[in-house]
Amino acid sequence: MENCIFCKIIKKEIPSNIVYESDSMVAFPDINPSAETHILIVPKQHIGSIQDISKENGQLLAEVYLTASKLVSDYNLTNNFYKVVVNGGKAQHVPHLHFHLLGGNLKRMV
Ligand code: 5GP
Ligand code: ZN
Repeated sequence: MENCIFCKIIKKEIPSNIVYESDSMVAFPDINPSAETHILIVPKQHIGSIQDISKENGQLLAEVYLTASKLVSDYNLTNNFYKVVVNGGKAQHVPHLHFHLLGGNLKRMV
């Protein structure tokens, strides 16, 4: 989608340090990390938010969590604190559905 910062990252029009890429997904570190490990898992398909998800996105959402699982291993978080967070509404700043993998010295686990 035009003028979407994450679509631009996916199309490599904006640089990012992509740590994982598949046909359907990219993952890259958050530019302003909130934890020791802060990776954004982003479906390549432009879906705005949780409220734009449909049943047809089921496989894609499975791939999100498989990607999270792989990154948990890659970043040695298995025996550390980690969580996967999705912001929405006024808590969401980039209107392209994405999942925050936060790990390490987290102050609070919700
Ligand atoms: P949201 O608040 O939408 O859930 O989170 C958006 C996240 O994207 C924020 O944590 C912000 O730091 C990150 N972000 C925004 N622009 C960029 C960018 O151009 N590159 C990277 N790597 N992260 C970004
Ligand atoms: Zn987008």
